Amino acid sequence: MTFADKDRRFVMIFTNMNLDYIINHLAEDRHCYEGAVSPPIFQTSNFAFQTVEDMREGLRREMDAPFYTRGVNPTVRTLRAKLAALEGAEECMVFSSGSAAIAAAVMSQVKAGDHIVCVQKPYSWTTKLLSRLLARFDVSSSFVDGRDAENFRKAIQPNTRLFMLESPNSTTFELQDLEAIAAIAKAHGILTIVDNSYATPLNQQPIKMGIDMTVHSATKYLNGHSDIVAGVLCCSREKYEEIFAGEFMTLGGIISPNDAWLMLRGLRTLPLRMQRVADTTPRIVAMLEKHPRVEKVYYPFSPDFDQYELAKKQMKAPAGQFSMALKAERIEEVDDFCNRLKYFTLACSWGSFESLIFPTSALIDSANYSGSPLPWNLIRFYIGLEEAEVLMEDLLGALTPQP
Ligand SMILES: *Cc1c(COP(=O)(O)O)cnc(C)c1O
Repeated sequence: MTFADKDRRFVMIFTNMNLDYIINHLAEDRHCYEGAVSPPIFQTSNFAFQTVEDMREGLRREMDAPFYTRGVNPTVRTLRAKLAALEGAEECMVFSSGSAAIAAAVMSQVKAGDHIVCVQKPYSWTTKLLSRLLARFDVSSSFVDGRDAENFRKAIQPNTRLFMLESPNSTTFELQDLEAIAAIAKAHGILTIVDNSYATPLNQQPIKMGIDMTVHSATKYLNGHSDIVAGVLCCSREKYEEIFAGEFMTLGGIISPNDAWLMLRGLRTLPLRMQRVADTTPRIVAMLEKHPRVEKVYYPFSPDFDQYELAKKQMKAPAGQFSMALKAERIEEVDDFCNRLKYFTLACSWGSFESLIFPTSALIDSANYSGSPLPWNLIRFYIGLEEAEVLMEDLLGALTPQP
């Protein structure tokens, strides 16, 4: 049975490409692997050919078939097909980190003399990519408040080539109206990229809203087990061909076959994990919002959030991150609250099984409260897969002043 025959058979069984089909069956090619349910790890750098003619054909098809693992590797290809289908994109490339994916996506679309309009407060290394690295190559950037789509239109210059978005961001969670901004971009011949790490393709599909490319830190929800660092870039076939032959192969920040396999395994439970955090996080947020020691909670799915209506319109379900400003006089009170939590681990990142906290106070020398652009009493939370009751009890305990 050929690949095509087998895919036709699956299409007959599964009349449309639903989530379960994508996650469990799409691009598994089990008939090629002795029926192995879990795909093999193609731990190889290169692929052999029988004749020069075959090798010539291999080179011609380097973008689509295994020739050298920096290009196409079968384990990675299975993962790519699933991620593209989840995003509703024609193609997907997987990288060794989210930052590598973002850098390849942005760099592929600009040249010296171009201008980028970026949403304010994106991921910290996205800021550095634009304002430090690309600035050295004469690419300039403006950062705008993305809560009003018109701010993007107002920031357009004759040389504006790209809008860089992140909705919501992962500290204070401001959203951008993706449909409105995509329409402004299209009217001006400007390309759009969205960092979709927060929502995942299950909760937000920017390409269907008119956005050109999406990027992810797959380190977060997509892998979901705090055991690899990886990134994803989804785009059209046309952009794929351009980027594959350019930044993808040149910069070469690829994922290893072994890490791709781990991510395939992580992906099997993505819907379950997203469902869990969607169930537990709003309950925990509601409890914190009522607590007298809490000044403010920043959570897109809280009815008190400024952009609650847009959050509900644009994203299918709540996710597990929020921030909380603690009512405190001194930074030591914030530190004390964090230190007393038992089920929340003090660590960066998010999107895995374990609940996490990242207090702004960790960024600040406690003698200098004004050392960060973020409020010193702000704590970023990620709700993991634990029981809501266990986490709520832990939070209440740490919020209660010690005698
Ligand atoms: C973590 C993160 C990144 C960077 O991804 P890495 O996998 O750590 O390189 C990019 N964007 C967002 C929103 C992130 O949270």
